[in-house]
Amino acid sequence: MHEALESAFSLDGRVAVVTGAAGGIGREAAITFAQAGADLVIADVGEEGLAGTAEMVRAIGRRVVVRRTDVSDVADVDSLARTAIDELGHIDVWANVAGVIRYFPIVDAVEPDVRRIVDVNLLGVYWGVAAAARAMGSQGRGSIINIASAGGDVPAPTLSVYGMTKAAVMHLTKTAAAELGPRGIRVNAVAPGFIETPMTSPQFTDADGTVDPARRIQVLAVKSSSSPLAMTGETTDITYAMLYLASDASRFMTGQTMRPNGGVFMV
Ligand code: NAP
Repeated sequence: MHEALESAFSLDGRVAVVTGAAGGIGREAAITFAQAGADLVIADVGEEGLAGTAEMVRAIGRRVVVRRTDVSDVADVDSLARTAIDELGHIDVWANVAGVIRYFPIVDAVEPDVRRIVDVNLLGVYWGVAAAARAMGSQGRGSIINIASAGGDVPAPTLSVYGMTKAAVMHLTKTAAAELGPRGIRVNAVAPGFIETPMTSPQFTDADGTVDPARRIQVLAVKSSSSPLAMTGETTDITYAMLYLASDASRFMTGQTMRPNGGVFMV
């Protein structure tokens, strides 16, 4: 590869914090960032999954700090940022990937479910942006990446709360970009379309966790049918966009939402 191109996308010498890193898109983001040269601080509520991700990052040859963190708890998120600075010296990239999904019609909504989705998907991102911005402010540079969703663009029955948190994340991304740009901090979002991960696979797994192959094919076919490309995505379809946003390749980009979604929604 051309040297200038390689260095534009490189994360050599950078430290990246990734939440939701126990599996799915967060785990893949940790791997992609590590492959690009970053050392990692990985956070999630799932300690077993985190340990697995840590092993993968170490196998790539990068340093990794593991920190169990509930992103809905502001003190926990602040402490995650402190751990990153104490252990690795600085934070260059902060990716807010952790999220939850629950399906229910508005008429059946119960308060604990509604609050949990808002606490994790929206406030969890808000606390992450705030902690990252404080840590990056003194350096005068940094990249914050928030994971939204095509569900924040396209209204879907039973996903009212999930959709509203993801739409709000895209708006928060713009406000934060406007506020933090003068301090050299870029803030962008990625709004994925359907990706097969532990979040979406329950749509075609049995109660004991085994995949029902016929149901899987059926679900993927339905999801693909709304894409002009007739496809669903893979985790790297999202993490390669994240790598662009994390790296200097996107130095002129802030306040934007990238939409690797197979074309299910076009701005
Ligand atoms: P995933 O595999 O379930 O990853 C989400 C991770 O976040 C899980 O490990 C989850 O742990 C963790 N988490 C949940 N609550 C947390 C909390 N309070 N604090 C810290 N970690 C917490 O799902 P994914 O598909 O990779 O999703 C990653 C992000 O992409 C989410 O924000 C999701 O909304 C978004 N997204 C996904 C898709 C898709 O099709 N997969 C599409 C659009 C957007 P538990 O498993 O223990 O809850």
